[in-house]
Amino acid sequence: MKFGGTSVQDASAFARVAEIVRGESENSPVVVTSAMSKVTDALIDAFDAAKKGDFESAFASLKPHFERHTKVAEELTGGAQQKSFQIELDFADKELNELFIRVTRRSLPLQMLKDAIVSYGEQLASCLLAEVLKAKNLNARQIDARRLIITDEEYGAAAPILSETEKLVQLELEPLIEAGEIPVLGGFIAASRSGETTTLGRGGSDYSAALVGAALRGREIQIWTDVTGVLTCDPRICPEARTIKTLSYEQAAELAYFGAKVLHPKTIQPAVDFGIPVRVCNSHQPSMRGTMILPKADTTPRIVKSIAHKTGITILRITSARMLGAYGFMSAIFQIFERHRTVIDVVTTSEVSVSLTLDNTDAIDAIVKDLTRLGQVKIESQQAVICIVGEGLRGTSGIAAQIFSTISDVNISLISHGASSVNMTFVVKEDQVSEVIKRLHRKFFQVS
Ligand code: ADP
Ligand code: ASP
Ligand code: MG
Repeated sequence: MKFGGTSVQDASAFARVAEIVRGESENSPVVVTSAMSKVTDALIDAFDAAKKGDFESAFASLKPHFERHTKVAEELTGGAQQKSFQIELDFADKELNELFIRVTRRSLPLQMLKDAIVSYGEQLASCLLAEVLKAKNLNARQIDARRLIITDEEYGAAAPILSETEKLVQLELEPLIEAGEIPVLGGFIAASRSGETTTLGRGGSDYSAALVGAALRGREIQIWTDVTGVLTCDPRICPEARTIKTLSYEQAAELAYFGAKVLHPKTIQPAVDFGIPVRVCNSHQPSMRGTMILPKADTTPRIVKSIAHKTGITILRITSARMLGAYGFMSAIFQIFERHRTVIDVVTTSEVSVSLTLDNTDAIDAIVKDLTRLGQVKIESQQAVICIVGEGLRGTSGIAAQIFSTISDVNISLISHGASSVNMTFVVKEDQVSEVIKRLHRKFFQVS
């Protein structure tokens, strides 16, 4: 059972979580929590301030967040539990102080220090949640996720070493579960083989929950958030977006990858590996059914199930007459991205050109320099990818016509269709994305 930041934002949210966990207490739950809402952002801002040498404000900016934790402990715990959390908070206060000094002095690699600092959001939330559950007579125990999830040393976006993680999760958690205890772990945080703190990337608590659920061959992985399941599109664009009852793993993975923030893109894979259902539900309205993500989705009369989007996308177009009839050209292009550790999202090709989209452009200057040796390169920034997901989209006549006639006045700068049977992906200018999604949502989901 994974609870996101807004599910643990204040005392009443913590109290709701305790009741949701109690409801599953007969089913041997394991609880994974994110940091309290806004805490990860605050820790990152504090790290940035310390990096600029502003140690004082780095530290001062965290005070209100520490107070939010204290307030929850005061309202929902007492005696031994409150004391135990206070000790943890005082310890975090001291450790963070030391870490900020190290940042200003650059006494360790900055990325390593950043993960160590950011991890306090989940460390504190998991400790607090365990104490709240205990105070409510649930047999909870905080477990440091860094003892269970082992990763490489890619700070900020570390990749788990699956076999080791699986063994440790089983070794540590199974005896507790058998003894009727409820382990409570911080999501998002992990450790390298040498014991340094790492993190799994923003929004990574979902992934932590999936890794633990898969290692334990859980009956279900539950993602508790602030909306009722995966919706027909981002509710921040269309407030009328509706809950999708079931999705297949493949559909959910496409949506998550192309921007449906409700699920971290890596969440689905561990579930796929062992055929574990993923349920997405609303901690603010626990009785609502939410979305079930299963190996195969139910067939529904609607072909289009959901629309995801991702902004801040850059298109690179590489054109070269040398590509004509040449083999090895694609490979040469892709090797450049591999060398600069940059992920490509969408690719399209013609006889003499390749267009592709990037989300992360940290290494773009170096990439363009290398690509220029292969051909002419053009960059188009401020683009957005829109991904339409549905069962059998590739094999359904007329779908492309329906999509593009709805937005016939909008310039589409790239289209990818047919690679997967469940999605159609295209790129528009970022400032048009909201209008495009509204129109498509109206077209495919309006009840007339
Ligand atoms: P948590 O803190 O629980 O992990 P997130 O903020 O990471 O929550 O994800 C939930 C948010 O994802 C929702 O509040 C919603 O604004 C956003 N979202 C974007 N696309 C979708 C979608 N298709 N379905 C549901 N939520 C979506
Ligand atoms: N707290 C982390 C973040 O804000 C991880 C998560 O919420 O899943 O990115
Ligand atoms: Mg999230």
